[in-house]
Amino acid sequence: MSAPKKYIFIDRDGVLNTTLPPYVSKWTEFVWYPWTFKALRSLLKNGANLFLITNQSGVGRGYFSEETLQEIFAKMKNRLNQSGLQFTDMYYCPHSPEDECNCRKPAPGMLEDAAANYDFELAGSWLIGDHYTDIAAGNAVGANTILVKSLRDGSEVRDQCQPDFVVSNLLEASEIIIGKWRKAV
Ligand SMILES: [Mg+2]
Ligand SMILES: [Zn+2]
Repeated sequence: MSAPKKYIFIDRDGVLNTTLPPYVSKWTEFVWYPWTFKALRSLLKNGANLFLITNQSGVGRGYFSEETLQEIFAKMKNRLNQSGLQFTDMYYCPHSPEDECNCRKPAPGMLEDAAANYDFELAGSWLIGDHYTDIAAGNAVGANTILVKSLRDGSEVRDQCQPDFVVSNLLEASEIIIGKWRKAV
């Protein structure tokens, strides 16, 4: 049997960090959830390739600059690296809905970019998000989807799309994925 595919797409706000809705517009507003590092560490230890995929329409709407957004990413990476953690890559959509781009979730453009850039198949990958647009992007490419309810209660999501799993937070999501990988070996 071939080894399971270990590609995971992870949304940012409401999954890695809490946010005073709707935007994190500067680093001082970025607050990691207490379980985030533990969850990422166990995924990485189990061979995961992690991709951040985040809608950041605050740029397109003029609430903060793309430069500020990139500063926040740089600080996130620094902090992760200090703990020996890293994402394979980070993707963001800076557009507003009116731009009708193909990267803003629920469109799967960021997932397709990652798959093209790193040469893997999207079917069988995993997606962890807290909003129906995340789940819809994963559904569109045949990923296994996990809805986390860290920020929202999730009721809105279940009306609009079908996550494969619904859990409380990223740590529980990581346990589900690792459990599935163990069974698949
Ligand atoms: Mg989110
Ligand atoms: Zn976009």
